[in-house]
Amino acid sequence: MSHSEALKVNELSPELQVLTIRNRFLEIFEHDPLLIRSPGRINLIGEHTDYNEGFVMPAAIDRDLVFAIGWADESDATLYSVNHDEFVRFDVADPKKITKPFWANYLLGVARQFVDRGYPVKPFHCVVGGNVPTGAGLSSSAALECGFAFALNHLHSFNIPTLELIHIAQWAEHHFVGVKCGIMDQFASMMGKEEMAIVLDCRSLSYAYLPIDLKDYSIVLCDTMVKHSLADSAYNKRRQECETGISILKKSFPNIQSLRDVSLDMLEKHRDAFTEKVLNRCTYVVQENNRVLAAAEDLRIGDLESFGQKMYATHEGLSSQYEVSCAELDFLVNEAKKLHGVIGSRMMGGGFGGCTINIVLKNEIDSFISTLRDAYYKNFHHEMNSYVVAIKGGTSVISLSTDQIKGINISPTKQ
Ligand code: ADP
Ligand code: MG
Repeated sequence: MSHSEALKVNELSPELQVLTIRNRFLEIFEHDPLLIRSPGRINLIGEHTDYNEGFVMPAAIDRDLVFAIGWADESDATLYSVNHDEFVRFDVADPKKITKPFWANYLLGVARQFVDRGYPVKPFHCVVGGNVPTGAGLSSSAALECGFAFALNHLHSFNIPTLELIHIAQWAEHHFVGVKCGIMDQFASMMGKEEMAIVLDCRSLSYAYLPIDLKDYSIVLCDTMVKHSLADSAYNKRRQECETGISILKKSFPNIQSLRDVSLDMLEKHRDAFTEKVLNRCTYVVQENNRVLAAAEDLRIGDLESFGQKMYATHEGLSSQYEVSCAELDFLVNEAKKLHGVIGSRMMGGGFGGCTINIVLKNEIDSFISTLRDAYYKNFHHEMNSYVVAIKGGTSVISLSTDQIKGINISPTKQ
């Protein structure tokens, strides 16, 4: 199969996507697989709060990776990515990091953790593919880790608790991929529920589902299609600046552990001990934690407009106090704000590129997207991409009806 054919899986409807992955598995391995799906995620509000032990409000979306997995009658395991059209074989007793292809490390790290935690992985075949855009901030990486952890657990009937699977997935990202992410992405991909936001306390990992009634509105993501090289170094710097803030406040409040324990009043009283930069960083985080809780209240009472105002406030804080935005993100939020039918917009994710998340009146979506796309191109000579997303359930087993299976005569090459 050629690369362009492989990529077509991105364009399939959810049902065709599942059938395609299953078909691909049958073609390659010639036996019947177990099917699992694992979604990407959005974060409605609560940005850069996770590593400060604060609050976030993610939700799983209707973009997933699909896994087909079954036992292998051989000594090694085999992985195949439909999107990449590449195979990887590895020794299930000793999964190791590899340099190429890099995508396999998300899965190899998960397998490593199973082995290290004493869950004996047996040889298997696995095909993965799907329509979570990669590198856009929708966490295709968490979908990959969570789906695979869930699939291995299910196939082997290990009965590993879901929270442990989430930690296994995060471990893979930290140690085999090298990204020191918080727990939010894996939590959201694994635990998402249809039409529910998750309010997650990143300290205790206690959480609550919050029904989201978007009424006449939809969630639209605008992808800047840029990733400025500052992203990684700035992320580490922000973590350090928050640490600096804590160590300053600890002199007066020895019991605090993180910015989670800090109030605006505490910052105000000790502002002279801070540089302006560190004060801004800390103020943003404390305000953002408060905003997540207030935004949860907005959703509870169905006040979408007030929720949207908080999204704008978050963006303002991320741009001017936390300084993780960029010209492209600021532009898209400012332009969105001017348009009819938009009640909230902000950058989503780590920053310096990726997507904005917008709440847009359903019948304004087309004009919203085309206006922003044109304005963006005019200003940056760069394409903007967009995704209209719905909130769906987290990682799960897919059961196909006999009719669906009989109807399968579909592969990406035959589309
Ligand atoms: P994000 O999580 O925002 O999408 P990341 O850079 O964290 O971006 O993760 C993207 C990476 O995940 C890809 O570069 C690829 O290595 C891996 N990945 C995502 N989807 C797939 C897939 N279907 N098959 C193989 N690898 C994938
Ligand atoms: Mg990622």
